[in-house]
Amino acid sequence: MNELMLNGIGMTSKRTRERLVNRLKKEGVTSRLVLKTIQQTPRHIFVDEALSHRAYEDTALPIGFSQTLSQPYIVARMTELLLTGSSLGRVLEVGTGSGYQTAVLAQLADEVFSVERIKSLQLKAAKRLSLLGLHNTYLKVADGHLGWEQQAPFDGIMVTAAPPQLPEVLIDQLAVGGRMVVPVGKNREQMLYLITKTAAGVQVREIEKVHFVPLLGGLK
Ligand code: SAH
Repeated sequence: MNELMLNGIGMTSKRTRERLVNRLKKEGVTSRLVLKTIQQTPRHIFVDEALSHRAYEDTALPIGFSQTLSQPYIVARMTELLLTGSSLGRVLEVGTGSGYQTAVLAQLADEVFSVERIKSLQLKAAKRLSLLGLHNTYLKVADGHLGWEQQAPFDGIMVTAAPPQLPEVLIDQLAVGGRMVVPVGKNREQMLYLITKTAAGVQVREIEKVHFVPLLGGLK
């Protein structure tokens, strides 16, 4: 990403972002690459102006349509689970929302494909990503249950809304050697899973309890 572009946008919040990163470290986020990326990503441009003073609190924030921008801890944790080495190849995100997680991924991956079911959220996210000069992001309005078959297989898949069960269609779109991070469960009582696909098969690991909005059917 263009540092100058980011600095111009984020100058005033540089110190608050440092504070956020220190808190994430205390909460157990260890990847230096992820912490650096969070440090240089202006989260305040991903929320409405009225909420921008709260953008560097470690809390989820509303983005309209009963949806939320995830808590920075969760964004950092899910990103570090997806990242094995120093960079990600092709990544699919399900649930673009504000575009903040997309922006974080775009700095760590070759290409990020992201699907969102609510058109007006997708449009706002696209504007923000282009403002930051993140041109390796590809967004579309679609039902994330289906993934993005034409662009599969993916080295990483991050699902940011919870399906009731492990999403088989998305597992099919993972490359061998690929990883998927996905919250699964109903009624905001969910478990975050890390799914790894190897030549020998699919491995499923429980990570921690989380609270996500549900992965819904149909477009809006
Ligand atoms: N990653 C987002 C978090 C957004 S919350 C961010 O950083 O802001 C989850 C998002 O998933 C919401 O925007 C919601 O509209 C979207 N979503 C829910 N069900 C979906 C589906 N079936 N397909 C695509 N997007 C979906």
